[in-house]
Amino acid sequence: CGIVGYSGDKSIHSVLLVGLIRLEYRGYDSAGIAAIDQGELEIRKEKGKIKALEDYLKLHPVNGHIGIGHTRWATHGEPSRGNAHPHVDGSRKIAVVHNGIIENYMHLRHELTKKGHLFHTETDTEVIPHLLEEELKTHGTLEKAIPAAVAKLEGKFACAILYEKDPERIYFIKDGSPLIYGKGKNEGFLASDIMAIIPQAKEQCIIKDGQWGWMTRDEFHLFEKDGSPVDVHLEHIKLTV
Ligand code: GLU
Repeated sequence: CGIVGYSGDKSIHSVLLVGLIRLEYRGYDSAGIAAIDQGELEIRKEKGKIKALEDYLKLHPVNGHIGIGHTRWATHGEPSRGNAHPHVDGSRKIAVVHNGIIENYMHLRHELTKKGHLFHTETDTEVIPHLLEEELKTHGTLEKAIPAAVAKLEGKFACAILYEKDPERIYFIKDGSPLIYGKGKNEGFLASDIMAIIPQAKEQCIIKDGQWGWMTRDEFHLFEKDGSPVDVHLEHIKLTV
């Protein structure tokens, strides 16, 4: 339902929670975050309100300066901690948060199961990290694996992706659900809704269907479905009330 991503000097903990709270008005049943903490991918999620996730984070803290967060409105699989996002691949190196629905997830799950993948949730989303893990075996880098994986996905999606072996980057894919990149001062944001990242983000790029890419704290790279680079023009965010 809601996505937020951040890379910058601030603590991931506070930026993601603030972003998710600003998306609460859209409704949700669970929430979670993923971050790179001292080189390792860490996931925290909880059923219920952001407050429940915040309390869980007090017991199991996460540090770091790059991460992704999600509020889930369940479409496939009941609201539970296990079904909450982020979802991971078999090696637990790739974390994905997803808005939307993967229509052909049963087919993909079946194909991936035949290749040895084990699924632990009832969600449609879980096929995405596993598909990326599979495509990585063939293509070597996430930059090449992403277009190959996207070509197999049917449905609507906006996803933010964190990969432990690419600890400076947040990757993203988009088709049918909204996604925006926001640039602040020495920091970069990703969000499903501009509300999550203002006033810190000063400039934005509204990502179009079929486009994908990656961001760091100060870079933003956007590509078309066929891999050709998009000439990005950031626009100033005007705050109107
Ligand atoms: N279809 C996904 C799920 O049920 C994502 C739902 C959403 O957009 O929050 O987990």
